[in-house]
Amino acid sequence: MRSLLTHLFIMFFSIALVVGCKAVSNEVSEAQPENTAKARLSELPDALTSSELFDTTILKPTQLFDNFYFVGYVSVGSFVIQTSDGIVLIDSMWTPNDAKTVIVPGMIELGLDPSDIKFVLITHGHSDHYGGAHYFEQEYGAKILMREQEWRFINNPEAPVLTDPFGNYSTEIPTPTTYTSLADKDVLNFGDTQVTILATPGHTPGATSLIISAEDDGEKHTVALWGGTGLPDTLEANKRYLQSLNYFQKVVNEKRADVTISNHPFSYNLIEKMTLLKQQKTSMPNPLVVGNEAINDYIDNELRNNVKEKISSLD
Ligand SMILES: [Zn+2]
Repeated sequence: MRSLLTHLFIMFFSIALVVGCKAVSNEVSEAQPENTAKARLSELPDALTSSELFDTTILKPTQLFDNFYFVGYVSVGSFVIQTSDGIVLIDSMWTPNDAKTVIVPGMIELGLDPSDIKFVLITHGHSDHYGGAHYFEQEYGAKILMREQEWRFINNPEAPVLTDPFGNYSTEIPTPTTYTSLADKDVLNFGDTQVTILATPGHTPGATSLIISAEDDGEKHTVALWGGTGLPDTLEANKRYLQSLNYFQKVVNEKRADVTISNHPFSYNLIEKMTLLKQQKTSMPNPLVVGNEAINDYIDNELRNNVKEKISSLD
């Protein structure tokens, strides 16, 4: 059965396609005037604007593991990884304003220093993931890490235009000015923390999944992050998505990943797990550690079923 989430993602990106083409800008945009934002949002279906994908309720910043934190909205957030070589952000939310008013204060609340941000690693080129990157580049001199395909995608005038929950078009969101290119199977060592890069095209041409080392009370865990959940529109892209998913699963099993998380925290119960983490005694097992078998179940029974269903509907 196709989940509501899949429907919403499909809707989100199908709608995005009809908005137009992209005129890329490096300028920091101001928020849209209220009437412009309202008019743009009114063109989107209620099913999208009232969904979790557009829910900008700020979640309480949360420590997930010894070295690993979440800050953000219900719709999307950033993971903050504290390493012995400085802080690495995984994704940067929708806009420069999100960076300034959600990520930075969230980090300060967690006792982290935003001026320690050395890298922003972008999983894919939709504005809910890269929108704040330029801010960190400009304010803190952070280096932007992403795959070349995705750099081209965010700078491509023909790329689909998304409307964000504030009524901005993705064309109005500043892109980073420069980046360091990542390739499949790159292993990045940020001091004591290792991040493995996996090229998993499908959701977007350069979508990137990650395997990240984490520690919980000194115990080692391996986090698998699937870099783009929503299904694309074309048969070809869905076939690529399926191929990438098979590759991701192979690596998840080779690396014995026992945690899976998404930058969309409503996905795979991250919000509930974070609530539990904050309420329970620190001696209790971390609810994020689900084990390798559960990750395989999620890949087999949710992600793969959804994309196979979409492929047969397009065939
Ligand atoms: Zn996306």
